[in-house]
Amino acid sequence: MLSEIVQNMVPSGTLEINARVFEMRQNGEEIINLSVGEPDFNTPSDAKMGGIQAIAENRLRYDKAPGLMELREAVCRKLSRENGVDYTPDQIVISNGAKQCITNACIALLNPGDEVLIPAPYWVSYPEIVKICGGRPVFVETKRENDFKLTGEDIAACATPKTRMVILCNPSNPLGTVHTRRELESLAAECVARGIYIMADEVYERICFADEFVSMASIPEARDLTILINGLSKSVPMTGWRIGYTATEAGIAKAIGAIQGHITSHPSMVSQWAGAAALDLCGDYTEMMVSEYRKRMETASAFLRKELPEAPFIEPKGAFYLFIDISCVKDALESQEAAAGPYSKAFTMKLLNEKHVAVAPGSAFGMDGFIRIAYASDIDSILEGLRRIRDLIKELSAGQKQG
Ligand code: PMP
Repeated sequence: MLSEIVQNMVPSGTLEINARVFEMRQNGEEIINLSVGEPDFNTPSDAKMGGIQAIAENRLRYDKAPGLMELREAVCRKLSRENGVDYTPDQIVISNGAKQCITNACIALLNPGDEVLIPAPYWVSYPEIVKICGGRPVFVETKRENDFKLTGEDIAACATPKTRMVILCNPSNPLGTVHTRRELESLAAECVARGIYIMADEVYERICFADEFVSMASIPEARDLTILINGLSKSVPMTGWRIGYTATEAGIAKAIGAIQGHITSHPSMVSQWAGAAALDLCGDYTEMMVSEYRKRMETASAFLRKELPEAPFIEPKGAFYLFIDISCVKDALESQEAAAGPYSKAFTMKLLNEKHVAVAPGSAFGMDGFIRIAYASDIDSILEGLRRIRDLIKELSAGQKQG
């Protein structure tokens, strides 16, 4: 019999789509995949050389559990240079991707039954990680008029004496929104008043089209309660190297390092040396990548505004996602699919089966009625994918009117 933790785990809402994509491709069908949250760029050569040199020079032995000192120093330089926040290496822990950073921090801070506020829509793994670590996810309903961004009032409305932490994904996956300084200050004030930790997941922070990106750690009152999560998967991009980092108050960082020491020790030395080179040397590459994302975002947004006004989307300010409202086809889908399950899921399966385009259903992120497309592929595929989405929505709407 598997543990209660496993029995309580909810399977990933995008897994079914991915399994179907795999199956269709095996059958020789061509699929436009706009469902994956992975950059389509390769790791830049300066980063790769950092890893290759480490191998050549045998810098490959066990090291300190919280991570390679050279990389922690590079992280401190990055945070100071780009985010205006000063940390020392004893406040930094390097882990196997941001996922492990989030998990470590939950183990370090949550007691059984502690409540963690998770604004919906949310990144799929937050609730599961919280549960694995013994916490209780409390989903916060956000408001359309705020583009579904978490606000101080939302926290005030949901916090209880058992609330220990709030998770803020900024820039947001799946929304693509970015919080302003004023909005962060308002969130911080509510958390400080209640002593609630702020897990600030800023993995998309370099992919920002807003005038400025403000890190939660740079809001002075919030600093001691902030567990800053970042990494190299999206920003460099180095997904398969598995490097993430946590920056936080020294006592918490020490506890996280101790936990990690027992579970995995530090991440691979090759990846850590590559990561150190990436943070110091690959700024231009990131800029090139971000300008490409911006072009795609502008092209995709212009297409949607012109061709599909009945499906409005959240104004994208960061990350590489468009969160599109498909409530215009709700009735058509619910009548066709015998009303079983969320209709955004019915839409994504129909889109995949009939139009060979994969996107993620909003239901996977705790918000039915939307789809998420990633613009982490070439512009021609994105536009072709959007044309087919438009066609399916028009077909469904036409059927709806006739019916
Ligand atoms: N946070 C968010 C919001 C993400 O989208 C992802 C990856 N999809 C992660 C964390 C995990 O990233 P990593 O590859 O560094 O584990």
